[in-house]
This record gives sequence, structure tokens and C-alpha cells, in this order.
Amino acid sequence: MGRILSKARKRLFDAAECAGVTSELFEQLKYPRETTAISLPLRRDDGRLEMVKAWRCRFDDHLGPTKGGVRFHPDVTQEEVEALAFWMTMKCALMHLPFGGAKSGVAVDPHALSPFERERLTRIFAVRFGHVFGPERDVPAPDLGTGATEMAWIVDAYGRETGAHHPHVVTGKPPVLGGLAGRKDATGDGAFHVLETLASRLGVADGARRIAVQGFGAGGRRFAERAAAAGWRVVAVADSRGTAFDGDGLDVAALGRAKDAGCGVTDADGVAETLDPEAVLGVTCDLLVPAALGGQVTEAGVRDLGCRAILEIANGPVDPAADESLRERGIEVAPDVLANAGGVFVSWLEWVQGRSGMPFEDEEVARRLERRMAERARAVEATGRELDLPLRGAAYALAARRLSKAVCDFGAAAYHRVG
Ligand code: NAD
Repeated sequence: MGRILSKARKRLFDAAECAGVTSELFEQLKYPRETTAISLPLRRDDGRLEMVKAWRCRFDDHLGPTKGGVRFHPDVTQEEVEALAFWMTMKCALMHLPFGGAKSGVAVDPHALSPFERERLTRIFAVRFGHVFGPERDVPAPDLGTGATEMAWIVDAYGRETGAHHPHVVTGKPPVLGGLAGRKDATGDGAFHVLETLASRLGVADGARRIAVQGFGAGGRRFAERAAAAGWRVVAVADSRGTAFDGDGLDVAALGRAKDAGCGVTDADGVAETLDPEAVLGVTCDLLVPAALGGQVTEAGVRDLGCRAILEIANGPVDPAADESLRERGIEVAPDVLANAGGVFVSWLEWVQGRSGMPFEDEEVARRLERRMAERARAVEATGRELDLPLRGAAYALAARRLSKAVCDFGAAAYHRVG
């Protein structure tokens, strides 16, 4: 991931040069603004003490308080946390949100924690990182391995430390504690709006409109449901156990019922064929939607892809080294910083609701999400035309322009203050 961060940074700098951005931006983004590393004591239910490594990276805060999820995963590293915080910086800038980028990682297997262990660890995480967090400073959210329950514990622990109720210190809370009902589906919904807006540019507007989805969790499942309801043919869906395949189109609702019953997608009723999990990448289709893990499409793997275009719901599913081979094969990519930004957009609405005390109606959240996703997708497409860049380069160019403007304006202000 360390190399991924430097490659991701190179993607940004290449795009920024095409966009004519010449400022102190490159120097500002050379390193994260701050990364805090803390070892957390985890008291197991049997009384044993274990120390767990944890990080919070605030990559850049020129555009506002930093924003980013909390990942519980046994293999998470500081380098991965910093790369993910960098992507959040790009995403918030591209989406015109008043946030910088951040991320947390806690090196623990969430499935190996009892409910009490999970609560103790989350609360000690909130207390030890409490000086980093703050509604106007750094606002965590759920990521892999965490959800609304963990966010509720963080609100409670943070409130007890500060002696006041600050629900907007996190987003992704349960609705009864100030969360938004639409947050759960926002990433899949947002990705679907991007697909609808960019289908022509991706070359998938006409024809069979066959989709393969890798990952059937919060993002991938909602996206597959929306696509199927809109008439797209979902021919393959993979989870960690296998790939369900049907060239005539899978029954996505049946896949959902299998997951709800604790089974895998390959156990669902009516699945024509079951394949290995990684086989989803080679299935013949119009659109591949990676919605599971990073680094899935490698330079060597490009020749085995069965798709004509890619829409990234996962963070970083395409290794930067594969960009050139994808271009040569004519496979256009709707990039993660745009396609999966629906979640952080609705998180922003939740933060606004917390600050103002005025609740949003569900319909308004859905309407605002659709409008912003479509508007930013059109802006990316137009910038791609203007600069003759693929969609990822165009998204980075737009983010670079906005960040660069903020860096320059702050720079001038700081100069005048000092002078
Ligand atoms: P999730 O944990 O709800 O679901 C992950 C899914 O991926 C599960 O179905 C799991 O079985 C599947 N999976 C795991 N390993 C796999 C493998 N080797 N092959 C095929 N499938 C595999 O996670 P999520 O919230 O849907 O997030 C998925 C991705 O989207 C992550 O990269 C995450 O960072 C990104 N993302 C999510 C959100 C969000 O709001 N949920 C927002 C932005 C980005």
C-alpha cells in the first residue's frame, strides 16, 4: 500500500499537470498532515490483555474538517490508512464537500471479537483518539468491519470525555441517534446514479447491459438491486465464498434472501452455475463492478477481464499499474473517488443535520444525492473531454483544481497575516 499511495499521488500529479494546476499543491500533499499511532489495550472476556495497533491519518484539511471511516481489519497497516486518507481527500474535493480526508485503521479481526470485546475496544479507541476527533476537526464514520453500532459507542464515549453531547462527531450513526436512514444505501444508490449518467461514455448504454458485481455487502448489494430494478441484467455476483452466475440474469432478490439467511450468494435459489470467487473478474459482461477489496485488477490481470467498462465501488480495486493496459484495451473506468462517493455525500448531510438540529426528510436526502452524483459525474465527463483524459484523470484534475485553489487562497491569507 505504501507503493499504492505513491502511485495514487502520481495519478493526481499527472492529472494536475494536464489541468494546468501549478501551485504548492504537490508539496502540500507529499506527506499526510498528521498520522497518530496508538496501541490500544484490549481486555478479552477471559481476562487476558492484548495490545492492538491503531492509527488515525488526517491527510489534508484545507477544505474543512477531515472526514473518513474507521476500518477494523487484521491486516490493516499505517501505509494503507494513509493511502485511504489520501483518496478521501480527493473524493471530498471532487464532490465539493467542505471536508478534508482522513482514515482510521485498527489491526484486529472484528469477527474474532465477542460483542463485549468489540464494545470495549471501540470505546477505548474513542477515548484514546479523542484529542484527534471533533465535530469541527475530524469526523469518523463506518468502514470495513465497523457500522452504526460502533459509531453510537464513539458518540457516547466522546460525549462522556467532553462532558457534552456531540452527535455530529461521527456520521453513520443509527437514525434514532441522529443518523440518516438513507446513509446505509447511499453508496450503492450513488454508484447507480453515476452509472445512469455515464453509461454512454462508458460504452454500456446500449446492447445487452450485462453486469458482474464482485462483493455483495452494503455497497455491491444495493447497487445490484438498483441496476436489476432498472432493467440491467446481473449475470454474475461474487462474495468471499464464490461466484453465482447466470447468463440470462440472476434473481438478485433471491441472492439477498440467501445472504440474510447467513448463506453465500452461491447458495441462493435458481443460481445456474457456481464458480470460484475470483472468476467474476473474467465473466463476459458489459460492466464489471468491483465492490469488495482493493488491488483486484492488476496489470497482468487486465488481459483476462471479460468486461467492456468498470465502475469502482470498492476503494482502489484497480492497481495504478493496470491503468495503461486498461487504456490499451479500451476499458474505461468510472473511478472510486466519484462512483463510491454517495456515502460521504450523505454523511455530509448527516453532519449538517447534527450541527443545525434540523432533520432532513428521507425524500430530500435521496433527491439531493441523485442531483449531486449526476452533476459531479457530468463535470468529470466534461473535464475528460476538455483535457482529453480518461474519467479517472478527469476526476483527479477536478479535485486538484479545487484543492489547489484552497491551498493558494490559504497561502495568500497566511502571507498577509505574517507580513
Ligand atoms: P461489506 O463488508 O458490507 O461487503 C463486502 C463484500 O465483499 C461481502 O459480500 C464479502 O463477502 C465480499 N468479499 C470479500 N472478499 C471477497 C473476495 N475475495 N471475492 C469476492 N467478494 C469478496 O463492505 P462494503 O461496505 O460493501 O464495502 C465494500 C467496498 O466498498 C470496500 O472497498 C469499501 O471501502 C468500499 N466503500 C464502501 C462504502 C460504504 O458506504 N459501504 C463507501 C465507500 C467505499
